[in-house]
Amino acid sequence: MKLGKIIVTTILIMVVILGGMGTYLRQPSGQLRDFDAWQAKSNTSAEGLNVRFFGVSTLLFDNGQEQILIDGFFSRPTLWQVLSSKVSSDSRLLQKFIQEEQLDQTQAILVTHSHYDHALDIPELAALLPQTQIIGSNSTLNIARSHPEVKASQLRRAVSGQSLRSGQFKVTPLASAHTPPTPVNDDLGEEITIPLKLPAKFSEFKEGGSFDYLIEHDRQRILVKASTGFIPGQLKDVQADILFLGIAQLSRQPEDYQKSYLQQTLAMVKPKIVIPIHWDDFFQPLDQPLQFLPRFADNAPESMRILIKAAEAQQIQVVLLSNSQPYNLLKSASSQVP
Ligand SMILES: [Zn+2]
Repeated sequence: MKLGKIIVTTILIMVVILGGMGTYLRQPSGQLRDFDAWQAKSNTSAEGLNVRFFGVSTLLFDNGQEQILIDGFFSRPTLWQVLSSKVSSDSRLLQKFIQEEQLDQTQAILVTHSHYDHALDIPELAALLPQTQIIGSNSTLNIARSHPEVKASQLRRAVSGQSLRSGQFKVTPLASAHTPPTPVNDDLGEEITIPLKLPAKFSEFKEGGSFDYLIEHDRQRILVKASTGFIPGQLKDVQADILFLGIAQLSRQPEDYQKSYLQQTLAMVKPKIVIPIHWDDFFQPLDQPLQFLPRFADNAPESMRILIKAAEAQQIQVVLLSNSQPYNLLKSASSQVP
């Protein structure tokens, strides 16, 4: 009897401890308000290029007539959905975004790699936007092919260094490297070789090779780099006014790696402005304010501090976009080439 009591009490204590740990690890790894000094000031303008940030590396560039979308990950299934079931697009949500953001003006969707937090919505978006081109790795195109309504003519394989014209935008994919692997992410270089059957488990979205994208519009040059990885020397001849830089897992890398990453990106590209991306909790829906990745996944504020320190040492302005308000790149970039 006494032994039974001890066992029950021990189990209860364990449950309380594990529950408490779970709650603690599920909380955001910091508070965005600690970075108010770097928040974008509202600078909307109908002139030039506006960008809107929808979390992870989903960015919508809009010149008033035409758009370029990076990744287009809007569905953001919950952590529970990701762990317990197959993931799929929320078609109704995508239709809402298409209507609200006039995504029918999207010339092309540039996909950085094939993990689900980048490529999940590609098939549904491609089917709903039949005029839009999908540009990405062969694995990404095999995700797009999962939808029967997606036309072969919509799909273009990204080839590193080969520029494409997309309306008034010139787009150049550049082979890149993914963030170093984690236990849930240990598929780097693996490919999706046949059309993916959806819905699929998150682990079926193999990385399939990563790309950065150089976007040229009018006289502005923008580099989007989603992952915290690099190919040494790859960006040595790439200059951009604005750098969108992935910082996921940066603070969890050894110091040498952090230094090399910032040397190979920030110091090489020499932007006027760097805008951190891939820091938000993508298990939360987009109708809630963005918040930092949870503690179990990352220490995002520390990654932000590492970036800010390196940028400020090089007189590069850091701008934090933490909602989907338009941010005017023409106004912000005192960076305009005369
Ligand atoms: Zn990834």
